[in-house]
Amino acid sequence: MTSAPTSSDAALVLFSGGQDSATCLAWALRRYGRVETVGFDYGQRHAVEMQARQVVRDEMARTLPEGRRLGLDHVIDIRGFGSIADTAMTSERAIEVDERGLPTTFVPGRNLVFLIYAAALADRRGMLNLVGGMCETDFSGYPDCRRETLDAQQQALRLGLARDFVIETPLMQLTKAETWTLARQLGGQALVDLILEHSHTCYLGERGERHAWGYGCGTCPACQLRARGYAEWAAQ
Ligand code: ZN
Repeated sequence: MTSAPTSSDAALVLFSGGQDSATCLAWALRRYGRVETVGFDYGQRHAVEMQARQVVRDEMARTLPEGRRLGLDHVIDIRGFGSIADTAMTSERAIEVDERGLPTTFVPGRNLVFLIYAAALADRRGMLNLVGGMCETDFSGYPDCRRETLDAQQQALRLGLARDFVIETPLMQLTKAETWTLARQLGGQALVDLILEHSHTCYLGERGERHAWGYGCGTCPACQLRARGYAEWAAQ
């Protein structure tokens, strides 16, 4: 890993290839002069996610006016964490709700772990801004997606790495419908179409059928959320 001079005009985007992180990547390309992406291999059920992120990156670099700002992609192997955090995301267990009211798709501590790795990478790459698609308005209510949690982690990273990191969460207060509105503001209908066609959200890794909202099984919680958000936005 080569190092780079530290710049507040550089951002590292936590990028899974889904609708939310794709929108965050377009947001970061508009805002920062140098943008890199990081993805995490924690033993997801489906390699389709990892393929989708490459296609979304390539298409954004090719079609967005700020596409030339898009730099390296990093994929970090955290399958050791995945083996601890085994849930419906990484095994074939059914999606249920536990005693905290959290679905079994909740991977305990996942975003906290992502951000620790991202900060270590950003330190080496000279980037102070970490951009993630975490969102408080998701029905899932994952506690590590709340701004309060991320404020605490930002403080921990600043103290622990002695860098003035900023955790940017442009989608924090947006509904899924408003995330489509943001995409259109950032890149017009072309960006909406790019995200619809190439981003991947389905927990089951289905890409067989093309719906109005994109590809997916249509029945898992991620597909339902995406379908509902798109329908709400399209009806406006
Ligand atoms: Zn699905």
